[in-house]
Amino acid sequence: MSQFDVTVIGSGPGGYVAAIRCAQLGFKTAIIEKYPTMGGTCLNVGCIPSKALLDSSEHFHNAAHNFADHGIIINEPKADLARMIARKNEVVDQTTKGISFLMDKNKITTFEGVGSFESATQIKVTKNDGSTEMIESKYTIIATGSKPTVLPFITLDKERIITSTEALELKEIPKHLIVIGGGVIGLELGSVYKRLGSEVTVVEFMDKIIPTMDASLSKELNKVLRKQGMKFNLSTGVQSVERNGDTVKVTAKNKKGEEVVIEGDYVLVAVGRSPFTKGLEVEKAGVDLDERGRVKVNEHLQTNVSNIYAIGDVVAGAMLAHKASEEGTMVAELIAGQKPHINYNLIPGVVYTWPEVAAVGKTEEQLKAEGVEVKIGNFPMRALGRSRASGDVDGFIKIIADAKTDEVLGVHMIGARAADLIAEAVVAMEFRASAEDISRMSHAHPTYAEGMKEAALDATAKIAIHF
Ligand code: FAD
Ligand code: NAD
Repeated sequence: MSQFDVTVIGSGPGGYVAAIRCAQLGFKTAIIEKYPTMGGTCLNVGCIPSKALLDSSEHFHNAAHNFADHGIIINEPKADLARMIARKNEVVDQTTKGISFLMDKNKITTFEGVGSFESATQIKVTKNDGSTEMIESKYTIIATGSKPTVLPFITLDKERIITSTEALELKEIPKHLIVIGGGVIGLELGSVYKRLGSEVTVVEFMDKIIPTMDASLSKELNKVLRKQGMKFNLSTGVQSVERNGDTVKVTAKNKKGEEVVIEGDYVLVAVGRSPFTKGLEVEKAGVDLDERGRVKVNEHLQTNVSNIYAIGDVVAGAMLAHKASEEGTMVAELIAGQKPHINYNLIPGVVYTWPEVAAVGKTEEQLKAEGVEVKIGNFPMRALGRSRASGDVDGFIKIIADAKTDEVLGVHMIGARAADLIAEAVVAMEFRASAEDISRMSHAHPTYAEGMKEAALDATAKIAIHF
């Protein structure tokens, strides 16, 4: 039986980062992954492939709609979906191979197969051919991630009634893609196909899209995506999905109680993700799950069995790759006797539509509910020289600061490159900056980042220069 200090089950951004940090700290480390490639959901069927297709479809959209404005005259561009998917696969291949390389470089032993507990210190690896291997490990980190949530009344046929995984592999551009769920996946993958020419209709149960983000972002994104041609049915609950040959029919009810029937050729079900523990046999180790099937952990990400930890999508909290990675690092350092800490309030969230949406800290609605007195700075992207030069004028930056201390409590933005811009807000808030601190820092001109300075000037004393 092979013996290890730490064994990580699952090689997503939680698991592989945990394994590398464990190895850096001198632990004899193993990682078990049931799929033939490393990297989990994020690298194989999540973050990376979706961004590859978002980028390809964005280039196509610009060629078709924006080049002429820039004085670039081309024949009508054609979308070659097969090539876009092939390119996406190349990107995934390079990225997942990069993780295998990092495992080797850090002398981490990799096992391909399903990891399942035999006891709190023994793990069985069942390989594809059915053969098994036993591992003994002082510590185990569960990083088995999540899978798409399925609504009980929808049967996924994975051809026309699909999840994000199949939406990354389509053989044709849908004529009419119906998206159930106006959250992150629905809007990102809906954007991909909208840009490639599909009609896209989103059915969202809540009264707004991206409902957990600041309401101002939801409103602006709704406006911009509608301008791009996406259709929305809000406050509408899906009741059934039927397929008849190449046609799919979604029947839903809106808040007035009226029946809404939408016909298309593909339905993307994007109503959230659920923790994945199938095959892990946690009960043999005595590890408790919570009422939603997540591995129960304390503030140190330790399960009720002291040598077993859990991280990432399989535990409570935001289902984000960078959150999983922070947790992987934290657990490795905790096992090494260090005292790491994660400020969960400062885990940024990004939606990679165009324009991008990004946020960190508390929303205006949350602060209001907590009774915190705030002052709010807003700055529209269109007032920036950089935005006019590029033609990306939609969106704004909103900074919420404490009314008395001026400390920045939340930054919410929608606009070009917001995904990268949000890092400035994270740094500022990590160092507990005031809005005035940001407003007094020099921001290169012309950049989108100047919007941060201007919004801070507006928040701290209503003295934005360019608006
Ligand atoms: P996962 O990445 O899910 O990895 C878990 C791994 O464990 C899998 O490889 C699985 O095969 C393996 N496993 C499970 N059980 C076993 C077992 N018993 N034995 C062996 N192996 C096992 N997040 C972002 O932050 N940014 C994004 O842009 C983003 N885009 C996304 C786009 C899409 C379409 C999707 C679906 C998700 C996206 N996410 C994004 C979310 C992100 O992918 C997850 O939050 C992240 O992958 C979670 O990491 P993890 O390590 O917890 O689990
Ligand atoms: P989500 O939670 O972001 O959105 C799901 C949406 O579906 C919600 O708006 C919800 O109100 C709606 N919904 C739920 N039940 C419904 C019903 N019956 N009818 C209509 N609408 C319904 O989940 P997701 O978009 O599936 O993404 C899953 C996870 O993956 C998220 O936690 C997200 O953080 C992560 N992810 C992140 C990124 C990113 O960081 N850019 C990208 C993709 C996915």
